[in-house]
Amino acid sequence: MSPKFIYLVNAQRDDAWHPGEKRGHVNTLTQDSSTPGLVLRTVLHQGVAFRDQIAEATGLSAATIGRQVTALVRRGLLRERPDCTRSGHVGRPSIPVEVDDRLLATGAVHIGRLVTTVAVTDLHGRVLGVSHLPTRGNDADLVKAAARRLIGLHAGIGDRTLIAAAVVAPWEALDRSPAVAGRTLRDTTTLPTSTADHVAAVAAADLLYSPEHGHGTTAYVYARETVGVATVHDGVIPSGGRRTGSVTHLPTTSDAVCSCGARGCLGATVAAIGPRAAAAGLVERPDVELVHAAALAGDLAAHALLVERAEHLGRAVAVVRDLLDPDRVVLAGQAFTAYPAAASVVLESFRRTTGLGPVPITLSRFGAEVQAAAAGAIALGPIYRDPLAALDRHERLLQRTRNARRARTTNGAVRLQPA
Ligand SMILES: [Zn+2]
Repeated sequence: MSPKFIYLVNAQRDDAWHPGEKRGHVNTLTQDSSTPGLVLRTVLHQGVAFRDQIAEATGLSAATIGRQVTALVRRGLLRERPDCTRSGHVGRPSIPVEVDDRLLATGAVHIGRLVTTVAVTDLHGRVLGVSHLPTRGNDADLVKAAARRLIGLHAGIGDRTLIAAAVVAPWEALDRSPAVAGRTLRDTTTLPTSTADHVAAVAAADLLYSPEHGHGTTAYVYARETVGVATVHDGVIPSGGRRTGSVTHLPTTSDAVCSCGARGCLGATVAAIGPRAAAAGLVERPDVELVHAAALAGDLAAHALLVERAEHLGRAVAVVRDLLDPDRVVLAGQAFTAYPAAASVVLESFRRTTGLGPVPITLSRFGAEVQAAAAGAIALGPIYRDPLAALDRHERLLQRTRNARRARTTNGAVRLQPA
């Protein structure tokens, strides 16, 4: 499915659910941003942009925009579109620019409870290639296996330079270490590597495509095999070790047994769907994607399981919303997006539970690609904050690795000399 089609599907969905939401324009993806980052993000959001349009959107002078655009074109981050030159313009012809997504790429790793997703994305955050492996082994072994998969995936994609990487996960729920995973990915790929909570990553991916969600407060609720929540205030995405809150042990009326010893925790309720379907003989393995497929194929027992999950999720979304009172809510992850018949149950359950009246609720545009897109957006974060510094960092790391290899080779040669 092309990104354009995804956009249209979701635009329709948004409008049908919440015709009243105001669509503002904000240029901030994050607070700590450089001037080149601001220019690059403005072009990203405008598509094809003339220099005077960038100046107007950013409030920067024409001279500054001219210098920044030249530098970004030279480094392969923007490209000129002479075919879109403005006609009837007095003086020098005006050539617009767009984000150049032909040369550079990022590596993305999403660690899920059962499945780890590895992807290569372009500068638009589009997924160019994706691969899956079972989530198995300690943090270092798992990420090394993912890095090998990433290197193979990149080799198959053609002539693009990987300039950054990211690894995201529900770290706390899986009892895994972002520090170990990030270091291992950096050392194995020699790429500057970012880490983030996986729901914060979903938020980052959403903001790449929906910059208007950076205005005010947006609450993101994620559910597949795990559940999570993240809030974004004025476009600032929680990153690194910053807490994003947790709904894993939010009580529900289910009788699923949780690792905490209680029954009915939301995380356990959602995680139990695959095993329950397998125990009932509906699917071959306790894999929730098989339950989605069975329900889509018309299996009524699978449908009933997913409707039950949707009831619990709708109530949980209402609790999150009533606690945080955000300007809008975005629902992401296959528990919301993979089975459309359950999505309406989530909304109905939400409406019955919330005490605060209607709020704009949007389904994530990413569907089944959400894990890859989310990790890719975190890898892109440093590039859109300060693109020239991100490229410099990549080159320094590459040079250091080359020097270290050369030193090892030289030392080896010295040792081979007779004493
Ligand atoms: Zn619990």
